[in-house]
Parts: sequence; C-alpha cells; structure tokens
Amino acid sequence: MVAERSLLLVHAHPDDESIGTGATMARYAAEGARVTLVTCTLGEMGEIIPPDLRHLLPDELGQHRITELDRACAALGVTDHRFLGGEGRYRDSGMMGLPDNDDPRCFWQADVDEAAGLLARVIEEVAADVIVTYDANGFYGHPDHIQAHRVAWRAHQMTGRKAKFYATAMPRSAGAEAAKLPEDSWFARATDLSVCVPDDQVSTEIDATRYLPEKLNAMRAHETQITLDGEYYALSNEIGHRVLGTEFFTALHAGWHRSPSYPARTAVVSPGGTTPSGSTRSASRGTPPDPRTPRGHRERDLFA
Ligand SMILES: [Zn+2]
Repeated sequence: MVAERSLLLVHAHPDDESIGTGATMARYAAEGARVTLVTCTLGEMGEIIPPDLRHLLPDELGQHRITELDRACAALGVTDHRFLGGEGRYRDSGMMGLPDNDDPRCFWQADVDEAAGLLARVIEEVAADVIVTYDANGFYGHPDHIQAHRVAWRAHQMTGRKAKFYATAMPRSAGAEAAKLPEDSWFARATDLSVCVPDDQVSTEIDATRYLPEKLNAMRAHETQITLDGEYYALSNEIGHRVLGTEFFTALHAGWHRSPSYPARTAVVSPGGTTPSGSTRSASRGTPPDPRTPRGHRERDLFA
C-alpha cells in the first residue's frame, strides 16, 4: 500500500485558506491526499462587509466565521479542519499597531513554544509530509500571519517529521496580471504590489485551474470578509483582484536530513534535494533560511 500523502496548512484567520491556497487544497483533496487545515484564530477583529451583519460584535463575528469556514472547507472537499488549541484558544490580534495587539488573549501575545507544541502534535498525528504557511513577514505583515509563520516553523523543528516547509508567495508577474480588472469592474484598482516577490523566489507553482469553481465557492462562503464579482474579488478595502487557479509557493525547507545529533544539527537541503557538498548549514532555532532558493524551473507538486 502506498503511504498516504499528508498536506498540512497553517493559516491565521478563516478566509486565508481559501484566498491563498483554496485551489491547491481542493486539488490535493480531490487527488486523494490527506489535507488538514489548522486555523490559528477565529478572525474576531475582521472588518465586516455586508451591512446586515455589521452589528456583530467581535466574539459574535468569531462564532459566525466558524460557520463560514465550515462551508468553505466543504466547498474545497477538506474534511479535517481545526483551530489551533481548539476554538477560541487564540484571539485575532487585529492589524499591526492597533491596541488589540496588546490583548493577552491574542495570538500575537501567544507563547511561541506553547503554540508550537500544540501544532507539533497535529503534525505528528496527521504525519504531515508538507507544511504550508506564510513567510517570515506573514505575507503582508499582519501580526497573526507573522505569528503563524513563527509557530509553524518552530513546530516543524520540534517534530521528527521530514516535512517540506513552504511559504505562500505571489510572484510579481502573476500579481500584476491579477491586479488587472475588466473595464466595467466596480472594484478599486490595485496600485501597490509590495506583497509580491521577485519571480525567481517562487520555487513551486500548483496549477489547480480545474478547481477554480471550488475555490470561488469557498471564498463566497466567507461572506463577512470577501466580495466576489465573477472571477474577481475584493476584501473590505474594495481593491479588486482576479481569483487565481494557479497558486505559488516558496520552499523554505526541503525536508529534514535526519542525523544522529538531531535536532541540534539539522541539514538545510536545497530544493533540488541535495545538501551542499560537505556543508551542513545549521538552521538556528526559530529562524528560517534565506528564501531565495529556486534556480531555473519551478516544481509543479508540493510533495516533489
Ligand atoms: Zn488573515
């Protein structure tokens, strides 16, 4: 029997999974991989778009977003989704610089080792081969996204699994393309592409165009956070982007090389799968290696 491939995604808020990785999740789930989603907060501080739901207080919004996430996962064909430490264990920290960041209950204030311990148990339980989260900047600087990266990276180090570790990425060329709107779109036009990375920082490209309908349905489930207009969407800032069926990733770690001294000395392997000859770069705890990894072609499979 072929061992089941296990993909684990660590996201900050309900909706991030669908926007950033929905097509990939739907594709791997449809192809028989085990797909597990861990969401770190309930998204209590999210801005509410529909006028008829704006009365929801943060805790009510959190509860509402649990149901949105349920529907999104159903649309993606993902049956295993959990909240880190259980529902409501960590609270949404709000945008960077807001007083919410100081709430002792929020994820930004969480003890990284403690949260990573909770995640490490999930990694072991589902025998994750691949872990997907954000880069060290949390893709766009939200405290919960940065913390998700830190916690996932630490948990990855804590376990003995040989999991590959990826950050979501938006290559500049695809980001510029996605920002182009139809003439008659009522969404605002994006002028800031600062979340994009140079194309050559992207190691892996997952073409899940076939699963674009599932992704769109999942995004639609997040009614408080996302407005959809055909194949275009906007968050509460009303800046429009095309919904992409191809999603992009940067490999931050190509898998552990087990060694007798694990975990004190852990080899960092290049995406090609080989260790630089004779050298064993030590990944210092909590600090991922430089993400500039790819050379030439992109991988087309997260498990490759
Ligand atoms: Zn988020």
